[in-house]
Amino acid sequence: RFISFEGIDGCGKSTQSRLLSERLRRAGTEVVLTREPGGAPGAEQIRKLLVEGATDRWSPETEILLFTAARRDHWERTIAPALARGATVITDRFVDSTRVYQGTTRGDLVDLVDELHRLMIGIEPDLTFVIDMSPEAALARASARNGGEDRFETFGTSFQSRLREGFTSLALRAPERVRLIDGNGTPEIVADRIDAEAVFTPA
Ligand code: C5P
Repeated sequence: RFISFEGIDGCGKSTQSRLLSERLRRAGTEVVLTREPGGAPGAEQIRKLLVEGATDRWSPETEILLFTAARRDHWERTIAPALARGATVITDRFVDSTRVYQGTTRGDLVDLVDELHRLMIGIEPDLTFVIDMSPEAALARASARNGGEDRFETFGTSFQSRLREGFTSLALRAPERVRLIDGNGTPEIVADRIDAEAVFTPA
């Protein structure tokens, strides 16, 4: 079983990925909790290049190639082996982030993201939770966390609003796979909403 968490910066995906992993582990499931960009040693090196560089360091196309390269490595080294041995994989971000961040905010490049994904990875999660909340609330959380140092988190709320729209429309386009979760409230309240969306029986 392969589950991804998505959403704008500061929406609480990392917390919710961890909480879901803990709940499933308590129920006796083997869970591999991972994240993107990153999730394997080589992919983490690509992550460093991506989050530390200047915003215009690469063209949108080059950036998509780098995210896809990182994802291919993550897939080969971490996700595919875990799924093959029957573990549940929970990832904090996957291809939907690239569809929305690189695919919609710097021109219409979703087809390029889709095509590269099809060629290089070819798998969608079984279930994707988009944690939805206002950019104002999410940005407040993100800045409280790391002082806004990460270059991708400096774009402000109008950029985050566009991302939010992108994630929402993904959820509308693929309602079977992508579930929109209200991200407001305490982590426990949000976790209950996630539980209500799907029956997580021990694998
Ligand atoms: O989720 P996390 O904070 O670890 O992601 C690191 C940064 O990379 C974020 O600030 C996010 O905005 C950015 N990112 C991106 N495109 C992606 C995935 C993440 O710009 N496809």
